[in-house]
Amino acid sequence: MRRIQLIKPECSTNRNSNGNTGLKMAMESPTALNSVCETQPTKLERVFCMQGGNGDTSYAKNSQGQAKHLQSLRPLLEEALNNMDLPASETLTIVDLGCSSGQNTLVIANVIVNCLMNKYKLASLNMPDFQVFFSDLPSNDFNTLFQLLPVPMEVPASRTYYAAGVPGSFYKRLFPRNTLNVVHSSFSLHWLSQVPDVVLDPNSSAWNKGRVFIHSGSNETANAYRLQFKSDFEDFLRARSEEMKSGGCMFLVCLGRTFQDPTNQGGGGILFGTHFEHAWNDLVEEGMVEAERRDSFNVPFFAPTVAEVREVVEKESSFTVNKVDVFKGGSPLVVESAENNEELARAFTNQCRSVCGVLVDNHIGKDLSTELFSRMEKRATEHARALVHDLQFFHVVAALTRM
Ligand code: SAH
Repeated sequence: MRRIQLIKPECSTNRNSNGNTGLKMAMESPTALNSVCETQPTKLERVFCMQGGNGDTSYAKNSQGQAKHLQSLRPLLEEALNNMDLPASETLTIVDLGCSSGQNTLVIANVIVNCLMNKYKLASLNMPDFQVFFSDLPSNDFNTLFQLLPVPMEVPASRTYYAAGVPGSFYKRLFPRNTLNVVHSSFSLHWLSQVPDVVLDPNSSAWNKGRVFIHSGSNETANAYRLQFKSDFEDFLRARSEEMKSGGCMFLVCLGRTFQDPTNQGGGGILFGTHFEHAWNDLVEEGMVEAERRDSFNVPFFAPTVAEVREVVEKESSFTVNKVDVFKGGSPLVVESAENNEELARAFTNQCRSVCGVLVDNHIGKDLSTELFSRMEKRATEHARALVHDLQFFHVVAALTRM
């Protein structure tokens, strides 16, 4: 097996995997073990994004599962849009929050615009211009996304909307007051704004020692994540309540869980809390990564229940709930042969790397990250049969109206 030299990380501002500025460990001394970086932790929103580009581990290449699930939820999105009163304005403004850099966001933009155009036609109303904002964190690979955009409006039957990118965290204000008609967000709100501080604090009972995720962890740790989710989601709703027009339609999809117990994170738990977590432990046991460095990495992901989502919407109180429900999406793995263990394990590992690889790269550097994911793949190959049955995603869907 290829051996990676032991490294001493040094904090330096560098470029992250997508080419943007972020905190990266410089690989220097071949003699020392990893030690925890002394520099202030970089704010998640400066570095986090899905893997950009079109490579094997990119989000663009590993989001067919999400695409399939979005297709199955399409009738619910259209129902939500059909419930919306048509504004008689000259411009209708739509935003996809957490758009990432693959095809999914473009498919969604088309579904929304086409559905609304039909509504305007059927109602014999003047057709407005459609403005679609694609929004994500600043490290997102907007270049790849913009290159996928169909050619502009002049060509008949091509893009039927004006497009623009908006960088920033959706947990804060992104748009002027009272400007948005439709807000869409899929597979994004399960990403927290940060790992709760107590989870990384050795003096706290919520310290997640020896783990990188809350799945099968302690109640204290999982509850800290739950509180973070509630506070983040409330911030999200408050920001949108200011940006959205009265009567505006909001359609949200995120990974959810069907169990009360937050230490059971369902499909997300299997993705981040089994072979991925064990691969971290492999590196620690083999002396490639210090235990402290592993403990200071946690995946900022939380799959809520329907009740948790509803509770926050009701507390924030700016939106009418038309629907909050949970749906079985099934396996996110898209493979040619479900009998092929290697292919399944690769799809599973690439899926994990496409969504949290950038964070791992930033935490231990690209070489160790590659080593980590190859351990994960090896472990997943040995358990591929179980993955076929156990890796099931559930989605919480919320259709809301701005009062
Ligand atoms: N909507 C796409 C992509 C989902 S991937 C789809 O359905 O396939 C999740 C996206 O959410 C990522 O691109 C990630 O960068 C983004 N994201 C996570 N936290 C965010 C935040 N606080 N603000 C804005 N975007 C965020």
